[in-house]
Amino acid sequence: MCRHLAFLGPPVTLRALLVEPPWGLYRQAWAPRMQRHGTVNADGFGVGWYAPGDPVPARLRGGGPIWGDPSFADVARVTRSGAVLAAVRSATAGNAGGPGAAAPFAGGPDEPWLFSHNGALTDWGRSLDGPAGALPVAALLALEARCDSALLWGLVLHRLRGGAEPGEALTEVVREVAERVPGRMNLLLTDGRTVAATAWGDTLFVRRGWPPPAGPGPVGTVIASEPFDDAPGWEEVPDGSVVTAAAGDAPRVRPITATTVPVRNARPAGSGGGTAGAGRDGGGGGGAGRSGRRDGEDVSA
Ligand code: GLN
Repeated sequence: MCRHLAFLGPPVTLRALLVEPPWGLYRQAWAPRMQRHGTVNADGFGVGWYAPGDPVPARLRGGGPIWGDPSFADVARVTRSGAVLAAVRSATAGNAGGPGAAAPFAGGPDEPWLFSHNGALTDWGRSLDGPAGALPVAALLALEARCDSALLWGLVLHRLRGGAEPGEALTEVVREVAERVPGRMNLLLTDGRTVAATAWGDTLFVRRGWPPPAGPGPVGTVIASEPFDDAPGWEEVPDGSVVTAAAGDAPRVRPITATTVPVRNARPAGSGGGTAGAGRDGGGGGGAGRSGRRDGEDVSA
């Protein structure tokens, strides 16, 4: 499985966000700590970020390991942004290689979106005729790669263009696809002002308050496949949930089928008290779509 991360907050360098943390996404490319599927993430990488005054993100992507890219280190050192989505890829069977299959995926030239998928769909090329058939031909032709992640992005983008909210678009696609094929769908989406993510078969964590606030001002939020350091404040998102966050606001976690409740009671990951919400849904690792939660049940993380 890939590892991915999104950040909203006061501008930081890509290096501070991705390379300098002891277990940063850069290092997760060869030494992830919580990866359940695959071993290293050397089949591609991508970083998308927003520059001041421009709602359309820039992307740097490659089809090989992030540590072998000749440009990444320089770009990361001098680029600052308050909204970033990045991923390192371990390609799953049946999917194309190359930079076009590396997240983040983006919308059209005037659209603000960045999207990533951590997971895999079984037999996706044969079993998703229904959902794919609802896409305009132009949207199918615009898919960047022959890859489950690119198709999922096409399905999400179609809903966003139809006016769905980000969390709603992700939730609908997870539901629709999960009815047809087994799979893992940890999805991550930003427009530079908000982030939405699903935990559907793999680990997902939220941390509010990174970087450590230097004074009054907006508080940064990170949503990531796994913590990039051992500092307190990382909260695990229960499997089978969608989390949404806007810059400065507390993230909200809700079951894919139920009402929104705020994240609260931060506990450090691995503190011995179990992961947030784990006591409520039977462990949080029960696999995609098997959380067993009831509508309206509190899943505060
Ligand atoms: N299935 C996707 C791909 O092949 C995502 C991979 C992953 O999460 N490892 O790119």
